[in-house]
Amino acid sequence: MKEKIECIGVLTSGGDNPGLNPCIRSVVRTAIQMGLKVMGIHRGFEGLMDGEIEKMDTRSVSNILGRGGTILGTARCPRFHDPKGRLEALRTLNRHGIEGVVVIGGNGSLRGALELSRMGFPTIGIPGTIDNDVNGTDISIGVDTALNTIIDAIDKIKDTASSHNRAFLIETMGRNSGYLALSSSIAGGAELVLIPEVKITFDEIVETIKGAYIGGKSHCIVVIAEGWKPGTRELVKKLNELKDELGFSVRVTQLGHVQRGGGASAFDRVLATRMGAAAVKELVSGNAGNMIGLVNGIVLTPLEEAVAYDKRISEDLYELAKIMAK
Ligand code: ADP
Repeated sequence: MKEKIECIGVLTSGGDNPGLNPCIRSVVRTAIQMGLKVMGIHRGFEGLMDGEIEKMDTRSVSNILGRGGTILGTARCPRFHDPKGRLEALRTLNRHGIEGVVVIGGNGSLRGALELSRMGFPTIGIPGTIDNDVNGTDISIGVDTALNTIIDAIDKIKDTASSHNRAFLIETMGRNSGYLALSSSIAGGAELVLIPEVKITFDEIVETIKGAYIGGKSHCIVVIAEGWKPGTRELVKKLNELKDELGFSVRVTQLGHVQRGGGASAFDRVLATRMGAAAVKELVSGNAGNMIGLVNGIVLTPLEEAVAYDKRISEDLYELAKIMAK
């Protein structure tokens, strides 16, 4: 291994999110400013194994700051779970002269980054996921933009819900994490939030919806995390059986992939830019094997710790949501 890294690669992997492009831009421009060669690896670990790699320069990342998606593309790559597959990836990296890699993605992608690092390849992770379930950072890239998309939808749904005296069940993404649902329920002023981390009975849900009606509210917004069990579909079925008791009639909106798209918010653009720049600097400073995070400023967490378990949501935040829903 050479003492000094002169060529790095960058890839986006796993679930996409707003903020990937500003992050790629930051990695590329920081690296070039530091005199490094930068290679863009397309379609995550899949493209890494198949050698979908090209040299990038300052102009390759022009006009992407406000664009959603990822110019490098992203993918899920089952072959990368296999040690043999990862060995192929190492061969490709060597063939292209890449001496260090920046992996931008969620928990799964960061696990992949950890595996590369364990094989002795200098690797650094950046948390990019709307789920906000990665340890070692208060917030991941994409979360703020997704939240803004969700509250825009909640505000609009509230208008129509109030006009018709309806209860709306709004399902958000988040995988097994309730962070997006909980934060958007506070920011959007929902009457109830259902998340995987907090147990609630069907009777409690019914009482809350009925209570909102009896208490004189013109609507009842229930935000549901996709990971909440038994799930939105099951809940609406049961609620429809109680039609005459609830006061409100019930409608459902599943926000879906709209939460992953769009240009990044100002917060996400700045976060992505800071994290991208930090990743390059730490990689060449010999701090590979870590993930960049934001906790009172930029911090480093060993990849091993970052993926050790899913980040927990704050109970205080849940209590706050309950108080605000009264
Ligand atoms: P995200 O990064 O959004 O959490 P996934 O969980 O789908 O998305 O992971 C993205 C990719 O990361 C997977 O398709 C796989 O290639 C790689 N990956 C995930 N977990 C591991 C693991 N334990 N070992 C090696 N690679 C992994």
